[in-house]
Amino acid sequence: MGMLGLKIDVDTYWGMKEGVPRLLQTLKEFNLKGTFFLSIGPDNSGRAVLQLIKNPLFLKKMMRTNAVGLYGIRTALYGTLLPAPMIALSFPDIVENIITAGHEIQFHAWDHRRWQDELPEKPESWIRQWFSDGIAGFEKLTGKKPTAFGAPSWRIDDRVLAVIRDYKFAYVSCTRAKAPFIHETASVLEIPSDLPCFEELAAGNGVTVITDRIKASGIHVLPVHAEVEGGIFNDMFKNLLQNVLDLGIAIGPLMEIKNKLMLKDIAVRKYKMELLSGRHSECAV
Ligand SMILES: [Zn+2]
Repeated sequence: MGMLGLKIDVDTYWGMKEGVPRLLQTLKEFNLKGTFFLSIGPDNSGRAVLQLIKNPLFLKKMMRTNAVGLYGIRTALYGTLLPAPMIALSFPDIVENIITAGHEIQFHAWDHRRWQDELPEKPESWIRQWFSDGIAGFEKLTGKKPTAFGAPSWRIDDRVLAVIRDYKFAYVSCTRAKAPFIHETASVLEIPSDLPCFEELAAGNGVTVITDRIKASGIHVLPVHAEVEGGIFNDMFKNLLQNVLDLGIAIGPLMEIKNKLMLKDIAVRKYKMELLSGRHSECAV
């Protein structure tokens, strides 16, 4: 029997403040649970503006997705002209609401933007500090340690896997691979986002494309962003949820998928980096 996992990433202050409450409302309407992967620390989104100059593919994406419309003009200035506000740490009540509603809650980032833009240039000590700050903030908000990690922008390297191994997560969701696998060096289960994001597809046919992929059978994970499905694509997201429920396919958090998987049947391998269609930088697959 197939299943759809909802991996809901919160990347920005705006996404936490506006997107998460709207998604909580949507999931309540459908009586569904998902997994929220939270960015805990500073919102340096404004640094993305600097990327415009450096990366033409990024500019194309910003134009196509109307990123300023998606995230709001203030978000575009955080960390540059405006100070970077804390993301989840600014909203303990919203974190509490996610938990009270029965959703799974996990760790996505300390500083999402810097990881996304600067990971290869940073030393391993920076990566370790990033995890330690993020997990301390997560514990402060939830009273628990996270049992899973989803890397920002599906960007990882061998140093990241070494840190992940030390945290002994129950699973990670750091790639866009087609099927679950076990990370060779970290010996940890990977539950990938195998479906595309709405913002990677032409806006009109996103619901159809994703529904067709889910219909084909198996276990799938949809990458959802609080800024997108909790913002201008909220109606499309609702249409997709309705389609999947109409097909008789269960929808739930990633931990439920983890519990369904037979670990002995899962391949052990190393991730690769690949430029997927609709994205401006390489993702692990
Ligand atoms: Zn993210």
